[in-house]
Amino acid sequence: MSQFQIALVSGDGIGPEVTEQAMAVLNKIGEQFQHTFLFQNVLAGGCAIDATGKCLPEETLECCKKADSVLLGAVGGPKWDNVPNNQRPEKALLGLREGLGLYANLRPATIHKALAEACPLKPEITADGLDILIVRELTGGIYFGERGYREGKYGKEAYDVEAYSEMEIKRIAKNAFEVAMQRNKKVTSVDKANVLESSRFWRKVVTEVAKQYPQVELNHMYVDNAAMQLVRNPKQFDVIVTSNIFGDILSDEASMITGSIGLLPSASLGETGAGMYEPIHGSAPDIAGKNIANPIAAILSAAMMLKYSFQLDKEAQAIENAVTAVLEQGYRTPDIFSEGMKQVGTKEMGELICHNI
Ligand code: NAD
Repeated sequence: MSQFQIALVSGDGIGPEVTEQAMAVLNKIGEQFQHTFLFQNVLAGGCAIDATGKCLPEETLECCKKADSVLLGAVGGPKWDNVPNNQRPEKALLGLREGLGLYANLRPATIHKALAEACPLKPEITADGLDILIVRELTGGIYFGERGYREGKYGKEAYDVEAYSEMEIKRIAKNAFEVAMQRNKKVTSVDKANVLESSRFWRKVVTEVAKQYPQVELNHMYVDNAAMQLVRNPKQFDVIVTSNIFGDILSDEASMITGSIGLLPSASLGETGAGMYEPIHGSAPDIAGKNIANPIAAILSAAMMLKYSFQLDKEAQAIENAVTAVLEQGYRTPDIFSEGMKQVGTKEMGELICHNI
């Protein structure tokens, strides 16, 4: 019997509603597979500003550091739109990523067969579903590079620098190959090596790392082509590994292909210590408190936690299978509802998934 400490950062808006269902699902897994999940509630985001004046109180970060893993709902909302920029609720996310040393962002884009009609692409492109995992570098590159203003050829200009060290590329590439080993053993590294020096270095280092993973097939693709291939023939991808900025854009593109923001989980991982798991959606203030938010993204985030932080593959699979079963039985929250299906609320969806485990 194993025991896991989970820091629960429910946050704002629909955050508490969806994490409550994720917690219920984890407890059900605990019962069935003889594990104990101990949850500690901590504040971050708007609710933390209201309670303590800070979007990320020190106790929260300390608790997350000590925990085996962090489950986050979402933060932010119109109530805090006018707080100073460096104290906005969303800053809590950056503080958590930095404080926990999370440099790899894993975002699956999955289409469940039962929801194929939600995909905006032609049916034949995603027939039989889709399962891509984007591994995005999260703490380097142009978003964190040197920036400023200077006198240029045409007068005043602004600049941002894209730079990647060998260490940063190596560790994210390793992450991608490791997760590919747990999937279909194919990695596509996305760069712009025909133009950028930093991309040529990226390609060289990724190719080097690939030698340690002879079972994994590696190919390289320019980012403009990758953006096109994602809508033309997304099934060719298994794991995509890429830089911070390219990953930001491609992961949003990939999530749109799946058709619903309420279904997609994500994981942020570091070298050691707690990973952070959260739905990709925000706090959805427009539907908060109405029991209509889709809890599946939060529930699948819990499944990712089991797989990547606790190496409980069987248990993670049990959650994924239960989600698939409930969708196949025709149950839908309003965001994914269509004619002829059975509409349920947040709580009911959580209960149905527990029941199917
Ligand atoms: P959002 O993701 O909260 O909502 C976009 C749309 O999707 C809304 O119509 C919403 O109702 C719907 N939606 C989102 N999640 C859903 C779910 N689980 N079920 C059903 N429908 C769902 O994005 P937004 O409106 O741009 O942002 C709202 C707030 O959330 C802002 O304050 C923003 O800064 C914050 N935000 C937080 C995070 C995070 O915590 N990781 C991420 C993105 C946005």
